[in-house]
Amino acid sequence: MAREWKTAVLSRVEQETAGTKRFYFKVPGEPVFDFAPGQFVTFDLPIEAKVRLRSYSIASSPAGTNEFELIIVKVEDGKGTHYLFSEVIGTEFQFIGPLGKFVLPENTNTDLCFIGTGTGIAPLRSMIRFIMEKNLPYNSITLIFGSRFEADILYRKEFDALASANSKFKFIPTLSRAGHDWNGPKGYVHDHYKHHFADGRDAQFFICGLNHMVSQCRENLAALGYSKEHIHFEKYD
Ligand SMILES: Cc1cc2nc3c(=O)[nH]c(=O)nc-3n(C[C@H](O)[C@H](O)[C@H](O)COP(=O)(O)OP(=O)(O)OC[C@H]3O[C@@H](n4cnc5c(N)ncnc54)[C@H](O)[C@@H]3O)c2cc1C
Repeated sequence: MAREWKTAVLSRVEQETAGTKRFYFKVPGEPVFDFAPGQFVTFDLPIEAKVRLRSYSIASSPAGTNEFELIIVKVEDGKGTHYLFSEVIGTEFQFIGPLGKFVLPENTNTDLCFIGTGTGIAPLRSMIRFIMEKNLPYNSITLIFGSRFEADILYRKEFDALASANSKFKFIPTLSRAGHDWNGPKGYVHDHYKHHFADGRDAQFFICGLNHMVSQCRENLAALGYSKEHIHFEKYD
C-alpha cells in the first residue's frame, strides 16, 4: 500500500453533467503513476472540517503516464467538493494512493456484471477500459448504471459507442425518474441484474455507489445464489 504523501497538480477540468465534472491530475514527482483499476486516492484538502481527508476512485485506466482522472459530483453543503469545484488549474493537492482492494480478480473469464450509481461509475469505468485495452478474457460484460434523469448519465457517449462496437458489451443506463420521452430501461439497478442473472449462471459482480445501494445488491445477489467470492464492492459512505 502506498502510504506516503504525494503531490498531484490539477491540470484540466471538464463538465460531464450539470452537477458532475471530470478532474484530471498529474503527479509531477513520478514518471508513471501506477495503480490497479478500481483503486482510489485520498486527498488532504485545505478545508475547515474535523476530517480533511476525502477519497475519490480513479476513473481512468492505468496508461503508463503520471496522469489520472476523477469524476466528482458536487455535494450540496459539501466542504470537500465545494473546494474541488473552485477548480483552479495548477493547484497542488496532497494525496496518498493508490489505495483499496476493489480490483479485478485474476480470472476475468466469466460473465462480468458492473453495477454503479452516480459517480460509483468511476472505478467500474477504469476496470472496463482496462479489460478492453489489455484484451483480458471475458464471456460478456454488462454495465448497469443507475441515475435519476437522462441528463445524469455519466460517460454515456463512451459506453454507447462501446456497446455499438462490441456485441459482448451491454450498457444498461436505467433511470429512476424517467421522463415520458425516455424509452430506455427504467427503475433502480436492482430490477436489471435480478432479471439478467436470474438463472444464477457463473458470473462476477462489481458494485460501487452509496452504502444502501451496495448493501441491497449484496443481499439480492446472495438470494440469487451468488457467494461472497463472486461479489466485489466499494462503498462511498
Ligand atoms: C473509497 C471512496 C471513493 C469515493 N469516490 C468518489 C468518486 O469517485 N466521486 C465522488 O464524487 N465521490 C466519491 N467518494 C465520496 C467522497 O469521498 C466524498 O464523501 C464526497 O465528495 C463528499 O465530500 P464533501 O466534503 O463535499 O461532503 P461532506 O462535507 O463530507 O458531506 C456533506 C454531506 O453530504 C453527504 N454526502 C457525501 N457524499 C455524497 C454523495 N456522493 N451524494 C450525496 N450526498 C453525499 C454526506 O453524508 C454529508 O451529509 C468516495 C468515497 C469513498 C469512501
